[in-house]
Amino acid sequence: MNELFRKSLIYKTGVEYGDYTLNHVLGCSHGCNYPCYAYQMAKRFGKVKSYDEWIKPKIVANTLEVLEKEIPKFEGKISVLNLCFSTDPFMMNQDKIIELSMEILKRLNAHDIVCSVLTKGLLPIELEKLNKKNQYGITVITLDDDFRKKMEPGASQINERIKSLRALHEKGCKTWVSIEPYPTPNFIKQNLKEILEGVNFTDKIIFGRMHYNKQVSMYKEYKQFYNQCAEEVISFCNERNIEYHIKKGTFTE
Ligand code: SF4
Repeated sequence: MNELFRKSLIYKTGVEYGDYTLNHVLGCSHGCNYPCYAYQMAKRFGKVKSYDEWIKPKIVANTLEVLEKEIPKFEGKISVLNLCFSTDPFMMNQDKIIELSMEILKRLNAHDIVCSVLTKGLLPIELEKLNKKNQYGITVITLDDDFRKKMEPGASQINERIKSLRALHEKGCKTWVSIEPYPTPNFIKQNLKEILEGVNFTDKIIFGRMHYNKQVSMYKEYKQFYNQCAEEVISFCNERNIEYHIKKGTFTE
């Protein structure tokens, strides 16, 4: 696997529900076609030249050395550290990345830093042995695996992904589901209720619209569509005592 070196890793994020984050990989073999915001930014700022380069991830080889120095500086300041906002910590078939992500989580937890994980890969069951305050999340924008392959070609099968989350839930871990970026019906006609029922065991659901894709605005009633979906998520969560968050810009006038 290709490598790169970084001088620093932990930083405060401007992302709506984030606090601190770190990205120990550049690129992501899941190669999402929503498109992926992290890829767009990496391309704009000259970190990668093409999609082909993006889907061949480079690992930050000095991650553990940098963390060793940084963690004491951030102890007590971080309420939740997110893995990751611009790559995927449990990338499919990337053993080195998965192993490093586990090690990062262990080291952060050892300093009482609670972590929140989001993946389109599979969550390892060994996560249940870590701090029970950690939160483990997966993205689920569809239950149709053909559509999943089109949008998230290198990611895990959707049923397997949900199964890995459920296994952690059954071990008493906190779990969450990100239904974002949710596609409009001109991408795929699907029943949001079925998706919600498929993840009804989770502790929290985050719902958000799709951005940066012209096909969304080609669906004339997209604003009304997202308003209805958001309302459906809220009433589903309220009925079942599930925490929820509707991303900014999803509800409109
Ligand atoms: S999993 Fe996340 S980081 Fe990876 S390509 Fe998909 S959207 Fe981008």
